[in-house]
Amino acid sequence: MELLKILKTYQDSERPAMVAGENKITFRELWEKSDQLAGYIKSVCKENRSPVIVYGHKSPLMPVAFLACAKSGRAYVPVDIHVPRNRMEDIIDSVCPDLILATEEFEPYRTYPCINIEEDINVFELGKGVAVGTADYVKEEDVYYIIFTSGSTGTPKGVQITYGALNRFTEWALNLGRGTKSHRCFINQAPFSFDLSVMDLYMSLASESCLFALEKKIQTDYKKLFEQLKKSNGNVWVSTPSFADLCLADSSFSQELMPDMELFLFCGEILTNRTAEQLLKRFPRAQVYNTYGPTESTVAVTEVCVDEDILGKNNPLPVGVAKPGTMIKIMDGDREMPEGEKGEIVIIGNTVSKGYFKNAEENRKVFFSYEHNGESMPAYHTGDKGYFKDGWLFYCGRIDLQVKLHGYRIELEDIEKNLMKIQGITKAVVIPISENGKVKYLKAYCIYDKPVENTRGLQKKMKEEMSEFVPDYMIPRKIQFVETLPVTANGKVDRKRMQEIS
Ligand code: AMP
Repeated sequence: MELLKILKTYQDSERPAMVAGENKITFRELWEKSDQLAGYIKSVCKENRSPVIVYGHKSPLMPVAFLACAKSGRAYVPVDIHVPRNRMEDIIDSVCPDLILATEEFEPYRTYPCINIEEDINVFELGKGVAVGTADYVKEEDVYYIIFTSGSTGTPKGVQITYGALNRFTEWALNLGRGTKSHRCFINQAPFSFDLSVMDLYMSLASESCLFALEKKIQTDYKKLFEQLKKSNGNVWVSTPSFADLCLADSSFSQELMPDMELFLFCGEILTNRTAEQLLKRFPRAQVYNTYGPTESTVAVTEVCVDEDILGKNNPLPVGVAKPGTMIKIMDGDREMPEGEKGEIVIIGNTVSKGYFKNAEENRKVFFSYEHNGESMPAYHTGDKGYFKDGWLFYCGRIDLQVKLHGYRIELEDIEKNLMKIQGITKAVVIPISENGKVKYLKAYCIYDKPVENTRGLQKKMKEEMSEFVPDYMIPRKIQFVETLPVTANGKVDRKRMQEIS
């Protein structure tokens, strides 16, 4: 499968490619506008093909910008409006883009050229005169997008995914459920800056289906959310299990609300038996899939259709079997673990990332080449713990300090480094507080350089300051001031002990 070739065949289609609130775009407009914008990019950007930042939320011009980048042979870096300014500036500084395309208001940064494509429609006019053809398009081995995720150093790392990897992933994903079908409606929850959105966006584009995007403000307003879901008449649901749990809390979330819902695709965090069971009950005509994978291997690399039989026999649920072109090994150092024994999940295969953008040090730690049948394949140390049982892969936590909170990937050290930017904080340790195997919230223990007089006031001020550096989901719900932290025999903070007393 090759995305741009397929989209070309839909270039006269008046079917909706994306709907977000009142805004819509058809496949014809998507093709035409992305051609024009690609022409504009080609005319104003240097030959070196640096990535382009695409800033915005759920405007239908977001996919226009993504495709325009691809047609002009450049990678795009999606940045959502909810990313705090400081963090976004870190991303921009590490990318050094030739251009920033914005679909929402954007205050210029340094001397980086920036165009608001919602307002400046001239851009499309200007681009019309510049011919763009397949010779300009991204090639199989070129980077198609770079998605930034939380990094333990306190600054995000950019995962580079090639066009080839995206095409292989999409082709596989379209076969999940009862097989590839066209003209469906995909419900999109994740912002485009999270790789989960790659699943719904490209599955829908490649099958001439409609992406029905739920804006963030809708997701927190039950009344509007359910009105939108009803209106969508969705067929395929792509979200984190946490978002499905939120919807399940309302009894009207059922097949009556979305009569043609046929497939739930989950990824990004543990899918509990309870969530899967409730969904199967409420949506008797739908299938529920658990898929697993990190951004570093293009969204997901395993799948399992969770039916009554699987539910009855497994708790926790498996994350499934590897997709074609992927091998999964359970490793303990250099030793491959036999079935039933736990170790680190290592992903080897044709959708593994080229590595983090300009980050040789991190790349050396986690990416490597694996020799298989005389062929060298890209491989990635996930940092996830897992084991195989009866041929199924099971996930059982992390070997490091990464957590998932409501589906968001967070390095605890990322929060700690940002907490220590606050004046007076000399040490900070963040502990995940879990319930039934899932992280419920984060608690920070902080050492302040003088006695704290107004605890509440300081906690409030710290949260406000944190919101300038990290997204809201990374701000610890609880902050406790302490004079000392427990340490292990070798002088490191004793996180295990802190977890026990939290
Ligand atoms: P992200 O890069 O944001 O997609 O996060 C990837 C991480 O999410 C993985 O390394 C796992 O720790 C976790 N994850 C992804 N899928 C699943 C799943 N189905 N079950 C449990 N954890 C998952």
